[in-house]
Order: sequence, then C-alpha cells, then structure tokens
Amino acid sequence: MIRAVLFDLDETLIDKTATVLTFLPLQYQRFRLGEHGVDEQRYIAEFLQLEKAGLVRKRDLYPRLVETFGLPGELAEALFRDFETVYPGMAVPMSGAKQTISALKQYGVLVGVVSNGEGNVQRPKIAAAGLNEGLDLVVISGDIGLRKPEREIFELAVGRLHLPVDSCLFVGDNPRGRYCWSRERRYACRLFRPEKRLAGFAALAAVSNRVAAAADSPCPRSERTHRGLDGDEAPAPKVTPMHLAAA
Ligand SMILES: [Mg+2]
Repeated sequence: MIRAVLFDLDETLIDKTATVLTFLPLQYQRFRLGEHGVDEQRYIAEFLQLEKAGLVRKRDLYPRLVETFGLPGELAEALFRDFETVYPGMAVPMSGAKQTISALKQYGVLVGVVSNGEGNVQRPKIAAAGLNEGLDLVVISGDIGLRKPEREIFELAVGRLHLPVDSCLFVGDNPRGRYCWSRERRYACRLFRPEKRLAGFAALAAVSNRVAAAADSPCPRSERTHRGLDGDEAPAPKVTPMHLAAA
C-alpha cells in the first residue's frame, strides 16, 4: 500500500521550462545584453544547453555562459545573483500539480518533495508555485549535502516520514532517479515525462484509486493472511510492482 508519494520538483511539480522561458528574456533585458552584442534567442539557447536539464549548478553555469559570449567576467556573479533573487518567485506549477496533491491528501497519502538544488532557490519556488500547502516533507539536496540519484537522499526522506521504504512511491521526470530506485527493488517508482503530463497525472490518479480501494477494503492487504485449503500458509499472491503498473 502506498502511504507516501515523493515528488521531484522541476519539470514534475513545477513547470521549469515555462518558468525559465519567462525569466531569461527579462534577465536579458535587465542586463542590456543586446548592447554587448548578445542575441536574445542565442542567450536562451546557450543557457538551456549549458544547464543540461538541471544537472549543472547555476553557480557554475553563469561563468561559462559569460565566457561563451565574451562578456565581462564580473557579469557572471551579477547574473547568478539575479537568478537566485528573481527566478524563484516566478515559478509556476505544472498543470494538474495542485489537484494531484489534493487528491493524494484526500486519500490520506503523505506528499513530499525531494529535489536537487539550493534551498534558497527551491523553497521559494515551491511557495511561489502555491505548492506549500499539502506538502508533508521537503528535502533539498543543498541543505543536506546529498543529491539524487544517491540512494541516501531517498532513504533520508523516507526516514523523516517514519515509513517503511516499500510504502513510498517516487515520481520524477529524470531517468537517473528511476534507475537508482529500480535497482534497489524496494522502492516503487514512476517516471513522469513532461511532454506526457496528462498521461502522467492520469497514471497518478490510478495510483490514488488503488490507494483508495485498499483503504476501503474491510481488511487491509498488509494484514490479510493467505491460507491454502489445508489451512497452511500459502505464498502471498504476486502483486505487480507499482512502477510496472498501467502507464
Ligand atoms: Mg526534474
């Protein structure tokens, strides 16, 4: 039975692409980068290329971006500070994110976030996107010195919820997180692809329904005994792992 769902943040609960594509033109204008001969569309494209879907820290990205365009070196720190200050407040939720969290909460499922990044950026993003309400746990890599896909960050999150690991489902868009959890075999995992957002959330709704069905059962699955005709204990029926269930 799923007792908690731990979500990735960027491109899972937060529409990072939409947020970045709103932020970057404004940053370009604030710093008058056109006067330095920088093309706006190329600035956006280089940022996205260097960022590599969030795997490169912004503190490391901006010096490389400045170097790429031959900008004055001191701009790297200023652009990074601008990102830290302005970008988090512009975060918008992924379509259906709030409704999904609400649905899970109604079924009595704990909801958490496990995210790579800096706390002073990720936490304001959660607040700006209106996702604070309903979250039982927020774990940010920069706060604890662990990063996904390291197994320890998931174990820390599950431990803080005081739940057994096999009762938690992790939902994220990055396959690296999935591989980590799948290898462990103790964790259920669902890969969420932003381009299939409706299908992803429909799948989550299906998960929710299964949770609800289990909750309505007169005898919780975990407490049922499986006995053969002679009264001896029989092997428990095979249950399809959640990450292999209906996509
Ligand atoms: Mg992500």
